[in-house]
Amino acid sequence: MIPSVLPTYNRAPFTFVKGEGTWLIEADGRRFLDMTAGIAVNALGHAHPALVAALTAQAQALWHTSNLYRIPQQEALADALVDATFADTVFFTNSGTESCELAVKMARKYWFDKGHPDRTGIIAFEGSFHGRSAAGIAAAGSEKMTKGFAPLLPGFTHLPWGDHDALRAAVTGSTAAILVEPVQGEGGIRPLPDACLKGLRALCDETGTLLILDEVQCGMGRTGRLFAHEWAGIAPDIMMVAKGIGGGFPLGAVLATEDAASGMTAGTHGSTYGGNPLGCAVGLEVMRHIADPAFLAEVNRKAAAFRQSLEGLVAEHPDVFDHVRGSGLMLGLKCKAPAASVVAGAQACQLLTVPAADNVVRLLPPLTITDDELAEAAARLHAAAAALHVHETA
Ligand SMILES: *Cc1c(COP(=O)(O)O)cnc(C)c1O
Repeated sequence: MIPSVLPTYNRAPFTFVKGEGTWLIEADGRRFLDMTAGIAVNALGHAHPALVAALTAQAQALWHTSNLYRIPQQEALADALVDATFADTVFFTNSGTESCELAVKMARKYWFDKGHPDRTGIIAFEGSFHGRSAAGIAAAGSEKMTKGFAPLLPGFTHLPWGDHDALRAAVTGSTAAILVEPVQGEGGIRPLPDACLKGLRALCDETGTLLILDEVQCGMGRTGRLFAHEWAGIAPDIMMVAKGIGGGFPLGAVLATEDAASGMTAGTHGSTYGGNPLGCAVGLEVMRHIADPAFLAEVNRKAAAFRQSLEGLVAEHPDVFDHVRGSGLMLGLKCKAPAASVVAGAQACQLLTVPAADNVVRLLPPLTITDDELAEAAARLHAAAAALHVHETA
């Protein structure tokens, strides 16, 4: 008999009932060190007092009015994002995949309004992940996500990661936009080198193509800058955001330049819940913390130290791990042992990690994680790896 919850997930057998900073507490009382953070969502950890206060204050005042009326929390958060980024304007969504839908619509509408209704093509990359909606799965293009769901949204081309000649050849007079994650998350923590991001920007400038960055996972301070593309010193035309921006409350956004957004006039797009007072009250508090240069400096300091301890871990367990990769506190352990067995071994040590493609274990802790907790995470990874040796030699 089918479970009452549609069985689209293979869930680990844990039931967490409470969160405190970097810790999750199981129904049976066990405390787990959370290096997953809801897949890069709980950027300020669990039950951060400032977020709890912002949410409860807003909950007592007003939950929902719809976008028929002005929403002051939404305007304040949009102002904060515009002040802190390349963007001139923001549309709020409730998830990453909704941000993908709008990014694609925005790019196509841009060219339609400029008198090029045939410029509809979106170039995306193998190994990418952009969500589970129609545009999201068409953009990722992997068989795992698209099989059985045809016909897919047309107009998407998929290129191998890092093949510059293929990219140059693929951009034609019918290309609307290039869509890329500066650091692939689900694809296995694969950072796009700064030089490639600069090259993409230059190619887009040369051909008029719009550059859409998907910073749903790598944005909001995860890499040590507010947004990952800042490391390359470039700016996109359109950017998808979600996950960390709500700190655990469902919230997403599409940021754009005035030019890129020029087609999105009144009536062209909407959302019942997008930009609701609850989500934006929390998002504003998240922005206040993460956009602070002192907060980002701390992320970078902690990330550098943690990365060094992970290099030591790999050196000590060369049969389990291959190498460390990633940026800031968006780190991947490329494994030699099956990543699933490393994740399970870590769970046995009450440490939560998340697997990704390419046999990688992802470490995406709350950005507020302390030095002691990072040391504890490294110790538990050592213990998990040591237990794997014992099993192998047994
Ligand atoms: C998670 C993710 C998405 C989809 O976000 P949802 O909120 O699950 O719809 C899109 N792009 C990237 C890079 C992601 O990591």
